[in-house]
Amino acid sequence: MRLSKTFVKTLRSAPKDETARGAQYLSRAGYVHKELAGVYDYLPLGLKVLENIKRIVRDELNRIGCQEVLLSTLQNPEPWKKTDRWDIKKMDIWFRTNLAAGGELGLAPTHEEPIVELMKSYVSSYKDLPIAAYQIQTKFRNELRAKSGIMRGREFIMKDLYSFAATDEDHEKFYHKVEKAYKNIYDRLGIGADTYQTFASGGVFSKYSHEFQTLTDVGEDTIYFNADKSVVLNEEVVNDEVLQEMGVKREDLQTAKAAEVGNIFTLKTKYSAPLGLEFTDKDGTKKPVLMGCYGLGVSRVMGVIAEKTCDDKGLVWPEAVAPYKYYLVSIGDKGLQFANDLYHGMEDEALFDDRDARPGEKFADSELIGLPYRVVVSDRNLENDAIEVVKRSTGETRTYRVAEFSLRNIDF
Ligand code: ATP
Ligand code: MG
Repeated sequence: MRLSKTFVKTLRSAPKDETARGAQYLSRAGYVHKELAGVYDYLPLGLKVLENIKRIVRDELNRIGCQEVLLSTLQNPEPWKKTDRWDIKKMDIWFRTNLAAGGELGLAPTHEEPIVELMKSYVSSYKDLPIAAYQIQTKFRNELRAKSGIMRGREFIMKDLYSFAATDEDHEKFYHKVEKAYKNIYDRLGIGADTYQTFASGGVFSKYSHEFQTLTDVGEDTIYFNADKSVVLNEEVVNDEVLQEMGVKREDLQTAKAAEVGNIFTLKTKYSAPLGLEFTDKDGTKKPVLMGCYGLGVSRVMGVIAEKTCDDKGLVWPEAVAPYKYYLVSIGDKGLQFANDLYHGMEDEALFDDRDARPGEKFADSELIGLPYRVVVSDRNLENDAIEVVKRSTGETRTYRVAEFSLRNIDF
């Protein structure tokens, strides 16, 4: 992308109620545009980050045999009535709308009910199981407070995966595969070292659910952990009984702020029983299907990464999610000519600051936007047979001889 051609401009200030530093940068650097509290548009750079996150999520889930679908956002109230989740008193986060033809529809806050309804058309025998389907979709939740930018939205992007099994053993086998896949995802996203699988208060049928919590000062959750972090608990489960079961003492636990970037639940028959998703087992008897659900906050993860990696100058994207790898800066006429040649064929990997702007402005924007490498091609450097490359995360600088230089050779 050529900065001279893009409509997005960096801004001097963020929306005034944006308090988290990463959230301010995401607005100022032109990744997102705030519509309303908790409602964001993704601009070209932001969309690329989201797509990079989704690609990693898909890759790991496809590898463990999950199939991608895309369910509707508009919701028929009927299945939700059967599980007692249509009532606003039970589920206060619904956004609802009236149909012109009469009746009401909802905007999906989650998708257990519709996916169970859908599976009733395809699952009837133990031979049809186990299976797992996921989607990456916009969810709507009437959250009381929208906080920390895209980290808690009223409209946000979630990956939700649902598993269906005939036996507890099959369910557990798959559950463990998802645990592993989630670890791989957070590692690849660059937040693995600070992301902990924690015990949280249970699903209705299982004693605990698991959350994946990433340490960050702007997180809404508090986690408790022992010295070697072999036991990590969400604040909400910390009581004497749990501590005894885990073999830890309260005084040995430390606390930290964290953001929930994913969670996984064993549902057993919570949704399949009331909605009638059954299979015929080997012995000919009919049984409700055993389920699990596995959420991952795609847009929240983007906010968490921004928050954790940014510094006092701007964003610092890890390479795996950065919208482009290189911020190519031209200074002067010869610089522009040479940078044009470098840019040719590298349009997917380089953001080209070919604007007629002061070097200081270009450098400040490069730091705000936070791509992994800044490549400076200036008239003066070219005269000295040098191209300067700065690594955003460390500030380390290298100079390359012009004849030997290609963007693809940058590696430090
Ligand atoms: P939270 O405890 O943060 O409200 P939740 O327990 O309601 O989340 P789920 O309904 O299981 O979470 O959603 C799955 C994942 O989607 C969460 O782990 C989180 O990463 C993300 N998520 C949930 N609510 C939001 C939101 N309002 N904005 C952005 N991401 C969200
Ligand atoms: Mg939660």
